[in-house]
Amino acid sequence: MTKQATTESGTLATLQEIHAEVARHVDVPVRWDRARKRYGSAHWRLDTRTRETTASLSFSRVLWPHMSPAERRNTILHEVAHILAGHLEGHGARWRQIHIGLGGDGKRCGAIDIPVEAVRPKYLGTCPSGHQAARMRMTARSQKVSCRKCAPYFSEKYLITWVQQY
Ligand SMILES: [Zn+2]
Ligand SMILES: [Zn+2]
Repeated sequence: MTKQATTESGTLATLQEIHAEVARHVDVPVRWDRARKRYGSAHWRLDTRTRETTASLSFSRVLWPHMSPAERRNTILHEVAHILAGHLEGHGARWRQIHIGLGGDGKRCGAIDIPVEAVRPKYLGTCPSGHQAARMRMTARSQKVSCRKCAPYFSEKYLITWVQQY
């Protein structure tokens, strides 16, 4: 019986599991971020005094619950490959080769189109014509907006009515 890669490293759902997977390849700190347009990111910080560069990885706490263990693993390896390939490499041939070598698909992170339902917006809005809008945050000021599809500029006539979801 052969074990699958996903069972060996669990479902990669927690930061601890993610860090364990990362640590098999590279020793960098790992944290969550609040990104909604990408799954993960590699960061480099240059200490201007010591001239030393420190790398770290962050992953989207928002999108993670909506990803499969295979997608999570591919994303982790994607970012690990960025660290191994170096800051300037981007998604070049060397990065691609490393990502594939680690077991990734070698594809660069394209634009992620997450359906509105997937990120569970806290506020859902409707304009008088029935257009839908979604928000994660709301302030007293940002609450009073009109529908962009109905009116290019602010218009009291097309105010969006917001309903808090949770
Ligand atoms: Zn990338
Ligand atoms: Zn509208």
